[in-house]
Amino acid sequence: MSPARLPLVPPQPGTTRILGATVIDGTGAEPLEDIDVEIRDGVITSVGATSPAASAADVVIDGRGAFVMPGFIDTHVHVTMPDASSHEMALWFAEEHSLATADIMRLTLEAGVTAARDLSGLTPGFRNAVARGWITGPRMHMSIALLSPTGGHADPSHANGTVAPYVAWEPIASGMVVDSDDEVIKAVRTLVRTGADVIKVCTTGGISTPTDSPDDLGLSEHQVRLIRDELARRGGRPIASHAQGHEGALNAVRGGTTSLEHGYDMSDELISALLAHGTVLVPTLSTLSLAPDPTKKSAEVVAKKLEWQERGRDAAARAISAGVMVAMGTDAGIFPQGRNLTELGHLVDAGLTPLQAIHAGTQAGARLLGLDDHIGTVRPGLLADLVVTEVNPLARIHDLADPAAVEVVLQAGAARKDRSGRAAGLGA
Ligand SMILES: [Zn+2]
Repeated sequence: MSPARLPLVPPQPGTTRILGATVIDGTGAEPLEDIDVEIRDGVITSVGATSPAASAADVVIDGRGAFVMPGFIDTHVHVTMPDASSHEMALWFAEEHSLATADIMRLTLEAGVTAARDLSGLTPGFRNAVARGWITGPRMHMSIALLSPTGGHADPSHANGTVAPYVAWEPIASGMVVDSDDEVIKAVRTLVRTGADVIKVCTTGGISTPTDSPDDLGLSEHQVRLIRDELARRGGRPIASHAQGHEGALNAVRGGTTSLEHGYDMSDELISALLAHGTVLVPTLSTLSLAPDPTKKSAEVVAKKLEWQERGRDAAARAISAGVMVAMGTDAGIFPQGRNLTELGHLVDAGLTPLQAIHAGTQAGARLLGLDDHIGTVRPGLLADLVVTEVNPLARIHDLADPAAVEVVLQAGAARKDRSGRAAGLGA
């Protein structure tokens, strides 16, 4: 696979030293206490025992009593989905949709997420705007759209032929309907041309789609393999497969998907396939755990959701205990925006240790995006995308769900959030 595109952000010029912090480096290793982290021009240059003879720095951050971790990576978000009704949004101007997305990106960053992967809805202009410093937000990878057959999870058409309201305001259609192999290939080529970092396919239906269900099949194993082969001819990109029901999830894994998104129905056969193919599971437990709102959803959808909650929690627990690789992803957009680290607590509830959950949210996510040479761990040579918190994540990981628990967020050494003034010298 060719190196994945690194989404850029403006770096902090000069030298910063964080002094005397406890560092959890994202690899799963035990925390190291009384550590100094030196950052030069946005890159980590040293991580080591605190020293009174430390060289001069332009900015010093007092890290005593604080935990420093890599910036988190949410591998499954929808930042174009604000917490507003579709009736409300139907009245918005195009610029309101764009500004709402920019606001959600800022909230996501301030929740401690310095890189994220949008799995349908986001367009490359937002990544460019972050790189130029016009807006702040995570480094964004994106699928732009998602692929399903006619009547599947990506099809915005109702039974009577009218389309879902979001079709009217999207600059690039997020739902791509593909049936034949030729349509699949053409859609992939179009998305790669437009700037997609990952191809998102639906190999099953969904809980929230009106006309199909999680056990319905979407793209076939053969079509997932076609996409993988087509991407291999173009330098290689990951495939993310939305799959809730069992048979469609097996199709995704056997066809060569890079990650299985949701995976709410976990048989021993599927666990074996995940392990054999080295597929990453993104269990999106934050969204799964949301209580369905009977005022917003039909009775049928509410019942579907409750049934799948039970199955999905059990699925994640069994995959984790079998040793399937896991990356953190919330499905924010379905789940409320700006509370992304909620997922860490869910992962611990499903059986990961806090250190393993932090690894799933940092280095494992960076690997899934192909960016682990740049971000995801606290070590020299990597970009200084870091979070600082006073919350001990080994003792109180559920507390990180509250964005207020994230005190400082650095991206390429620049302070994007400084709640308490700890990083005042960086002038956030
Ligand atoms: Zn999603």
